[in-house]
Amino acid sequence: MYMNCPNCGYEGKAKRMIKGSFLLEIVLWLLFIIPGLIYSIWRSTSRYYACPKCKYQFVVKVKKKEIAQKK
Ligand SMILES: [Zn+2]
Repeated sequence: MYMNCPNCGYEGKAKRMIKGSFLLEIVLWLLFIIPGLIYSIWRSTSRYYACPKCKYQFVVKVKKKEIAQKK
């Protein structure tokens, strides 16, 4: 996915981020199955794209062609 960052002006590939901790997810799965399942579902629904430079979350999606045309 390509994006434009309104925070630092970066244009290019977005970085996919996932909220929460993978380690915590494993621990929850090992200790309690149900919270582990809930946590996994929560994490899978909280994926988002962010700026790779400044980690700004609310980036604007752009098409790759639009970036190429600007330069
Ligand atoms: Zn940025």
